[in-house]
Parts: sequence; structure tokens; C-alpha cells
Amino acid sequence: MSEAPSSGTPYPYDAPASQALFDRAAAVTPGGVNSPVRAFRAVGGTPRFMVSGTGPYLTDADGRDYVDLVCSWGPMILGHSHPDVLAAVQDAVSRGTSFGTPGEGEVALAEEMVDRIEPLEQVRLVSSGTEATMSAIRLARGFTRRTKVIKFAGCYHGHVDSLLAAAGSGVATFALPDTPGVTGAQAGDTIVLPYNDLESVHEAFHRHPGEIACVITEASPGNMGVVPPLPGFNEGLRDACHKNGALYISDEVMTGFRTSRAGWYGVDGVRPDLMTFGKVMGGGFPAAAFGGRADVMAHLAPAGPVYQAGTLSGNPIATAAGLAQLRLLDEAAYEKIDAVSRTVQTLVTEALTKEGVAHRLQNASNMFSVFFTDREVRNYEDAKRQESFRFTAFFHSMLAQGVYLPPSSFESWFVSTAHGEQAVQRIADALPAAARAAAEATAE
Ligand code: PLP
Repeated sequence: MSEAPSSGTPYPYDAPASQALFDRAAAVTPGGVNSPVRAFRAVGGTPRFMVSGTGPYLTDADGRDYVDLVCSWGPMILGHSHPDVLAAVQDAVSRGTSFGTPGEGEVALAEEMVDRIEPLEQVRLVSSGTEATMSAIRLARGFTRRTKVIKFAGCYHGHVDSLLAAAGSGVATFALPDTPGVTGAQAGDTIVLPYNDLESVHEAFHRHPGEIACVITEASPGNMGVVPPLPGFNEGLRDACHKNGALYISDEVMTGFRTSRAGWYGVDGVRPDLMTFGKVMGGGFPAAAFGGRADVMAHLAPAGPVYQAGTLSGNPIATAAGLAQLRLLDEAAYEKIDAVSRTVQTLVTEALTKEGVAHRLQNASNMFSVFFTDREVRNYEDAKRQESFRFTAFFHSMLAQGVYLPPSSFESWFVSTAHGEQAVQRIADALPAAARAAAEATAE
């Protein structure tokens, strides 16, 4: 796929067209955005309003283009406007946009997912990752007839009431201690534990015998920056769940169909009872899913008593886009993404090392992020100890040079099959100045 456009123009820091849109947005939308991290609050400055995307590039309202290392927070694994995905969407759209009936597209997407991920015996399609985790928790509670849920600090599972405690992503970015609007009862049924600490999981099961419905964990966390599970951690969770009659839920909304053909399950092979998906499987449209053991899924309405539904679930456009994207994601595609990811990681480390900036680059297959600390990051407490002010300087330098990073140091970076030599070269060219800016940055 072509890597155009590339203007080669300098990237002045101001963004008047984006600023004008942001001002308009702020008048009609809280904070001017429809999802908090987009607002640039962690790094300051004007969020860029994007108008188009092609391959690895995004173009903003001021006509500047950027190498995109966010990829819509994961979904755009083939880059933007992939011709095959667009063709599938156009074909689906030409036949109508929503029927509120079953359709073949949703069957085909579910079949493709089940085919790729062995523990996924049945799936139910929904429209967002939040809905997927919310529904999986409800199903786990309905199946086990228990109420409590274990989650880990720094893991983000969408804005589900009971899962917002000590969450990652935007909750981490804004250091929100608790979210008003979540009742004590909802929060009270959630047990929040430090990530990568099996001992605390065993203790929790010991303290709450017969009460814990499930453990939900990001298959490999990317919402406090990238903090992979230590060897044996996911296995230990699964074993603790099974010993205590609870379900093990692996949240693969971010890792699913990204970290391998079969997501993180394809990397560590630890068999969950339930799994959740989103992002890549929707091809840039609102499609998500939860699924797993057929005997557990049989408790879901209309087969069983646990209610769950959605007007737009299995939407024909979203399923067509997702299916087209998944069908293009063969082993060669993952090899390419992994290789680009490795190259970018090496470039980042080399640039920061050259400027003497203490940092740790952590990865989980092709997902990666940089922590501005010299210590290994194993959990949320470690992640919070980084020098985020250095990230801010680094981020703005990259942005000014036409590289769009996630606007927070608590997020994973993403690459795609479309990130070719030209895009990588622009990243390489931008890194020395950004590393220097990080080195020279001072805490307020
Ligand atoms: N679970 C994980 C691991 C995620 O990363 C996210 C979103 O970033 C979600 C759930 C929520 O997905 P959505 O934003 O589609 O509701």
C-alpha cells in the first residue's frame, strides 16, 4: 500500500484550525471530546482534529500529516483506509445499514474468531469493549451465583461501573481516585489487587470463600503503559480461579488479534473461561464481543436466563469491516507488524540512550510503550513512579515533527502493516530532537 501523503513541510506547533474546532467542541461537549484521553490534558496543548487517514498517516484540520502511532488506540492494524476494508464496507453499505435481524455477516465474523482462538467456543457480538466486559462480568456472576470480582490496579476494562476502581487508561492519565457516580455497592463488590502479585490473589480467595465470581485481567496490560504478565502469572490466575470455583476472564479487547493471530492467547496459551474482544475485530467500526466456554455461554439469553442484548449488535457494516480486516491478518501480516514494532522500539531506545535519558521500553509482542524511569515496571505503582514530565516534552517534540504518539505516558503505542520505510524514517528523523527535549525537561 502506498505511503502517501508526505508533505515534508515543517510542523509549526500551533494548530489554528484544530483550536477553532476544539473551541466549538468545548461549547457543546464536556471538555470538547467524546473520550477523555483525546483532550491532551496529560500533555497540554491543542488536540489535533483529524480529517483523514491513509496508511500510516493522519492529516489534521490544518492540513498537516503525522505518522500515526496510535492507530485509533489499536483497531487500525492495517493502517487507515485499507482498500479491502473500504471495499467490504462499501459493499455492505450498498445493501443497507442495519436490519435488527440476524445476518450472515455476524455469523461469518463469529466463525472467523472461533476458528482462530481455540478456547472460544461461542461468542456474542456487542458494540464496544465496555459492553463486552460488562456483559462478561454479568454472565460470570449469573453462572457462579456469586457477586465479587477481582480486578487489578492499572488494568482498564472500559467504563463499567464496577471496573472503574483503580483503572488504567484515562483514569490513570487523570489520576482519578474514584469516579463519582459509582455507588458504594458497585465498588464494594470489586476487589482491586496489585498486578503481577499472585500472593494477593490467593489471599483474596482465602478472605472471601465462595464469594468471588471471577477474576478479570487484561491478557497483557496496555492501559498503564505496557506491563506484560510475569512468567506464570496468568497460569496462576487460572489455577486460583479453578481451585476456588471462579471464572477466569481474559480481557483481550486490546491484545485480541493484535499480539498474534489468536491475540495474547496465541502467545501464552493460558486457557480462559471467558474472553472479551473489541478494537481490531471491528476494523475501525463499533464491533466487540465476549465469549468462551460453551457451557457458560449457554446461560446467556435467549438460550439461558442471563439477559444481554443490543440494537446494533452484529451490525452489518461493522461485521463486514471486521471480517475483511481479520481475513487480511495472516502470519505474514503479524511478522510485518512485529518487525516494524521492533525497529521503532530500537530507534526510540537508541535515541533516548544517546541523550542519557533514563527509560524502560517494555513490550508485549508488537505492543510497546516507554516509561521514563530506569526501573522495571511490573504494576501500576511502578508505572506511576516514572518522570511523566519527560514524556510531555518528548511527545510535543514528536508532534511538532509530524509523529502522533498517544497523548499520555500510560498508553500503549501501536503500529500497523502500513508502517513502511518512509514512515519509519520520519520517526527516526524526529527522535533525536525529541530525546533531547526529554533530557532537558524539568519537573514544574
Ligand atoms: N478493555 C480493554 C483492555 C481496553 O483497552 C479497552 C479500551 O481501551 C476496553 C476494554 C474498553 O473498550 P471500549 O473503549 O471499546 O469500550
